[in-house]
Amino acid sequence: MPIIRVALDVPVNTLFDYIAPSATTQHIGARVQVPFGRKMVIGVIIEVTTDSSFSKEKLRYAKYIFNDIPPLPKALLDLFKFCSEYYHHPLGEVVMSGLPTRLRNSKPFVEKPQVKSQFHITNKGQLADTSLISKRSILKHRLLDLFRESGVVNLIEIKQLSPGAVKVLKEFVELGWVEEAASIFKTKNSIEPVLRKEQASVVNDISAETNQFNTWLLHGITGSGKTEVYLRLVALQLLQGRQVLVLIPEISLTPQLEAVFRTRFPTIPIISLHSGLNTSERAKGWLQALHGTAQIILGTRLAVFTPISDLGLIIVDEEQDNSFKQQSGLCYSARDIAIFRAKYTNIPVILGSATPSLESYYNVINHRYRMLRLSSRAADNASLPSIRCIDTRTVRVREGLSEPLITALGKKIALNQQSLIFINRRGFAPVLMCKSCTWTATCSRCASRLVVHLKDKNLRCHYCGYKERILSSCPECGDQDIAPFGHGTQRVEAALREQFPDARILRIDRDSTRRKEAWKKILEEIHEQRVDILVGTQILAKGHDFPNLGLVGVLNPDASLYSTDFRAAEHLFSQLMQVAGRAGRASTTGEVLVQTKFPNHPLYHALRQHNYEILAKMLLTERRAANFPPYVYQALLRAEAPKLSTALDFLSQVISISSPSKNVEVFDPVPAQMAKLKGMERAHLLVQSDSRKELQKFLTAWRVKLDKISTRKIRWALDVDPVEF
Ligand code: ADP
Ligand code: ZN
Ligand code: ZN
Repeated sequence: MPIIRVALDVPVNTLFDYIAPSATTQHIGARVQVPFGRKMVIGVIIEVTTDSSFSKEKLRYAKYIFNDIPPLPKALLDLFKFCSEYYHHPLGEVVMSGLPTRLRNSKPFVEKPQVKSQFHITNKGQLADTSLISKRSILKHRLLDLFRESGVVNLIEIKQLSPGAVKVLKEFVELGWVEEAASIFKTKNSIEPVLRKEQASVVNDISAETNQFNTWLLHGITGSGKTEVYLRLVALQLLQGRQVLVLIPEISLTPQLEAVFRTRFPTIPIISLHSGLNTSERAKGWLQALHGTAQIILGTRLAVFTPISDLGLIIVDEEQDNSFKQQSGLCYSARDIAIFRAKYTNIPVILGSATPSLESYYNVINHRYRMLRLSSRAADNASLPSIRCIDTRTVRVREGLSEPLITALGKKIALNQQSLIFINRRGFAPVLMCKSCTWTATCSRCASRLVVHLKDKNLRCHYCGYKERILSSCPECGDQDIAPFGHGTQRVEAALREQFPDARILRIDRDSTRRKEAWKKILEEIHEQRVDILVGTQILAKGHDFPNLGLVGVLNPDASLYSTDFRAAEHLFSQLMQVAGRAGRASTTGEVLVQTKFPNHPLYHALRQHNYEILAKMLLTERRAANFPPYVYQALLRAEAPKLSTALDFLSQVISISSPSKNVEVFDPVPAQMAKLKGMERAHLLVQSDSRKELQKFLTAWRVKLDKISTRKIRWALDVDPVEF
């Protein structure tokens, strides 16, 4: 009797055996309904065998094997297995969380028959006399205008115009004004710019090796035309009928990029997958990718788990972005999985960035990745903005705004140009610093900065747990002027309003961009020049084009220079490069003013020269000296409980059963940076090794032991290659 081994969404690292009389190996990858405890649940068949380590009498029968959609392809199952092994996460949870929600419930998925969903305008339609259409038929006019502007329009866009537009479309078809368009490959040549020399050479290099695995690091400054390079390489794949996966960090960037791709490839089916879709939309897009009907798959990190039948190329844009890393549950890095996928499929993967992550850059130095550069701006007349530091030790600062910055803002308003005030607001813990020599207190055991705990009058290392008393004078220069440093919220918006009562000021935060409509409105306002000064945090730095932006002011970036997070300087540089890159994109020459107390810091030197590589080399030297990634590999065991002591006790218990090899170091448990979240107190412990293999070996054995510890009241998770602590 055939036995199926099923992946279920339960937090134990095992598959579950069931008897399934009708099962054959054809069913591997199919969804199945099985009894589990007293419930019926959905799982995925991973193996079909004839033997089980359980006695047959004890095995239960599977209830129903779904055949509504094709079984998950082997490549996707192998991807899930890799994730489960590498991230030490139960396979069942990996598989089930990788499926669209709609496919995780017991209702079979009915695929609507594929309607040809694209239409193009005919000559007759182009020439039709619009004066013969009644003025009152607004919809007819609008639909015809849409066709005349775009040439090809898909059914979704038509429905978006108005639900009634489909009826009008039928009329147009009968009149011979529009026809169904086959999804053949056709680009709009007229809109393709001539490639710059550097762009052409990048396209040549990559396209010379499209049939093999390579990780290309495309290091291109902001505005250097990376998107155009992507478009050309995508076109080459489409010509061969292959599919392309494009990953981007932000959901708010998807509509923009989708529009770029749709304009360039008007006849190619494109889907975009992100968390903003409803469950059936996502399942539909996912299936189109599986069937090969969708040829371009755009999406945020979760899209990396899309089954794609004939994948030819993967692009990860802004590869350094932290949002590619999932922070809970299966803590995967979509960028790293993309690389695994490319290797498995034997195709190229392109990591694009103006400021690559140090991990990626280090891989270039080690000849694991190949770097290609775009070092100048692509658009005509576009130049790099000039970047200056304002030394806030010597100029007057009121409510966070320095006089030179206020003067510059006033000038831009007079010139009718927009300005952006960027507030660096990552919530860093205060560190102890000497004001005269900039010495900071560091941990002697792990070289990270110590955090000031004023209440207990001590300094603590948030990595290894080391503690010491707060010093009263600087050990370097003896100065007594040492104090906690690194916080400061500000009422910048209010101060700006006071300074510029007539200016139109728009404040943007995470919440205002989460809602799709709100964000669209904000972008409209910016583009229609209804804003003079934008105020916001990191969200503004990413990918958006603001053609009339003349000035960027950066407030309190210094906290990141002396942060306890060893990646803070890297992130700061990346963010400042990006935010500076917003200025001077079109013909407006941009100006960037950075308010800092440390204008001579090497990071600002590199920034002023727009020189990523100088900084990357310097940071790598520091990382090597301090034994931080990418020179070591890390994993974090996170624990949370209603009480901190419970979490810490659990972690101590874990330590007592750990037997690390010589190459693996297990640190003491410490409270997390964000020590309390949603009512749960959080702690973690760090494991690191200079050998990835040794670390993995340790984690595999560790995971088995962890599963055996009683964990009532505790939630724990393993985070391999953590980026946040
Ligand atoms: P990046 O993604 O590297 O920051 P973009 O792809 O947004 O840069 O390109 C910046 C600008 O340069 C865009 O407006 C784009 O249309 C333009 N551009 C790109 N390539 C060319 C080219 N070869 N000739 C003229 N303009 C170009
Ligand atoms: Zn000092
Ligand atoms: Zn330490």
